Amino acid sequence: MTDLLASLNEAQREAVAATPGNQLILAGAGSGKTRVLVHRIAWLLQNTDITPHGIMAVTFTNKAAREMRERIEEVLGFPARGMWVGTFHGLAHRLLKAHFKDAKLPESFQILDSDDQLRLIKKLVKQLNIDDERFPAKDIQWWISAQKDEGLRAAHIEAYDPHTQAQLTVYSAYEEACLRGGFVDFGELLLRAHELLRDNQHLLEHYRQRFQYLLVDEFQDTNTIQYAWLRLLAGETGAVTAVGDDDQSIYGWRGAKIENIQQFEQEFSNVRRTKLEQNYRSTGSILTAANAVIENNTDRLGKELRTDSGPGEPLSLYTAFNEQDEAHFVVERIQQWVDNGHRRDSCAILYRSNAQSRVLEEALIRNGVPYRIYGGQRFYDRLEIKNALAYLRLIIGRNDDTALERVINVPTRGIGGKTVDIVRDFARDHGCSMWEAMQQVIQHKLLTARAGNALISFMHLIDQMDEATDDLTLAEMAEQVIEMSGLKDHHMKEKGEKAQARLENLSELVSAAKVYDYDDEEPTSPLRQFLDDAALDAGEQQADEHSDSVQLMTLHSAKGLEFPLVFMVGVEKNLFPHKMSFDEPGRLAEERRLCYVGITRAMEKLYICYAESRRLHGKESFNGPSNFIKEIPSEVIQEVRLRTEITRPTTVASGYASQEAANDLGLKIGQRVFHQKFGEGVLTGVEGSGGNARVQVNFDYEGSKWLVMQYANLRPM
Ligand code: ATP
Ligand code: MG
Repeated sequence: MTDLLASLNEAQREAVAATPGNQLILAGAGSGKTRVLVHRIAWLLQNTDITPHGIMAVTFTNKAAREMRERIEEVLGFPARGMWVGTFHGLAHRLLKAHFKDAKLPESFQILDSDDQLRLIKKLVKQLNIDDERFPAKDIQWWISAQKDEGLRAAHIEAYDPHTQAQLTVYSAYEEACLRGGFVDFGELLLRAHELLRDNQHLLEHYRQRFQYLLVDEFQDTNTIQYAWLRLLAGETGAVTAVGDDDQSIYGWRGAKIENIQQFEQEFSNVRRTKLEQNYRSTGSILTAANAVIENNTDRLGKELRTDSGPGEPLSLYTAFNEQDEAHFVVERIQQWVDNGHRRDSCAILYRSNAQSRVLEEALIRNGVPYRIYGGQRFYDRLEIKNALAYLRLIIGRNDDTALERVINVPTRGIGGKTVDIVRDFARDHGCSMWEAMQQVIQHKLLTARAGNALISFMHLIDQMDEATDDLTLAEMAEQVIEMSGLKDHHMKEKGEKAQARLENLSELVSAAKVYDYDDEEPTSPLRQFLDDAALDAGEQQADEHSDSVQLMTLHSAKGLEFPLVFMVGVEKNLFPHKMSFDEPGRLAEERRLCYVGITRAMEKLYICYAESRRLHGKESFNGPSNFIKEIPSEVIQEVRLRTEITRPTTVASGYASQEAANDLGLKIGQRVFHQKFGEGVLTGVEGSGGNARVQVNFDYEGSKWLVMQYANLRPM
């Protein structure tokens, strides 16, 4: 057991050891909010008569929940069994599982992830004969989720215009379909958990008595329904500690409400307020940059943040030739960092959108640098994994239409789209599942002999798998299913790296299943639990979590984390701030908060990169540096480009460009050159050699550019 208060400053110590009651800890990034939360829990357990059973802690990701539990147990020196730690979604799921009857759900209800949800909505749009060009399923999905985040069911909504009417029609049909199939989407988890407590007084009383302490991290990103749930659960007796930072609210686009912070202060009684102003994470330069950027936002609650650590290294700005060059630069710097004795997992590459990761991944793979991705193409979202899971789902429940549609012809087994349409229509007309429909359709010979036989063998296969896996452990079962379904052969026959990766992922699934075993205390089977976790986890972590790899993630998923070395890439107009943010008021401010989150993830060194030209989604664009870069004071940021060499032509400060390489090409750094299109300029950098050589020229009128030597046709002057 460690001394809980010793490693805290005074403000933190007071918050940790405060007398029981409601608390709001509002403070900037890296000021130790999460640390206070963890120590508060440990302190309560040590110094009051509360047991782990009486505590619920809410984190923003499942990974954060696991870490929080680990840290609490580490501080305490004993396991904190019975404590509920999880995301709002995870905790809601747990409640619904425990009280499925009161929640009016079937025992084996199943979580519908956003992919499945979209598939179902598409199907309904088609069935309802709604014009999917005017009302794209994706938009409807978005709209339905937004309603649920606000706590609204279809029955609560009144539609006056045709647009809302169409959406509402789908929402009603969707609610019905979910109820029939026992599906619960992410928004539904929260909504239903709220209704469960609201409508069942005995349960509400029970949980109010049980959870005397409720602690919520990243409170600024709670949405309406989460807040309502918390409010309900706390009642007048539960003590809530809310921890957050209004400057880090980055999920407004998904319904999060910064206003919940003010509402908390108004609605909860005697809220004790703590400010933390000392940042323990970052160097002075990093903090100066972060503060300067966020100052451009208005409507802030206003906080101070300072550090005692010195200025550290300045930030570095790298202007890349294109996205390839950017990736190349990042990988090279990471390799240097690792060569200097650092671990790879101390570096993170942060980007605005998932699509940016591919080029970075390729560069990392090319250079043999292990990496892993948070979010994005999430492990459990990957096609091959979802297929394998669908087979597992069918083993538990044949009436799982979504799973059935997913794999009925994967791998191909001669069941065409037409056959599936017939089965689907039959199911709809008779209000039965597709599995039942298949039986009927076969029995009544509604199909050609060939199609009928194909269906029969598919059904056979599922039954066989069910039998064959009866006595197996979950891992063995997964392995068996991957074999028997033909998925393994299917990907083995495909060529290329992608197929190889798919096979690797399938083996990874078997390893992931190994952690699940029968547990007498758990009411559900390991398979059921595994499937639920897979849906909930949404791949925040991959199975190789503990290996030493560079971390790739979107800025959004970096919230709450910290890394000694951080690269923010693609800091370009249109990309970041995202071009979508131009249309909506408030969105630019949210993008700026996202930038603040990104900068404040860095502890020692931050690189900001942008590319002069970028190929993304198959289009080439020339965006120019983001305005956020201009908001960083020049004293704390230095360009990696070799501008300094313009005045000191013979020295090359960075190992990145070399005088020898320039010599090889018959050019000298600092030399004046002429380009057909851009005119005259000074050669400021060279990279690579032979056909790959690229040069950087600072043109008199066009500014600095990277050019491929081979095509540039530069003439020495
Ligand atoms: P964010 O807003 O990004 O979530 P946070 O406010 O939750 O940040 P923490 O992650 O709790 O901040 O702390 C940031 C870092 O500072 C951590 O490495 C933490 O261990 C360290 N730290 C916090 N308080 C202290 C302290 N009093 N002494 C030394 N280190 C501290
Ligand atoms: Mg935190």
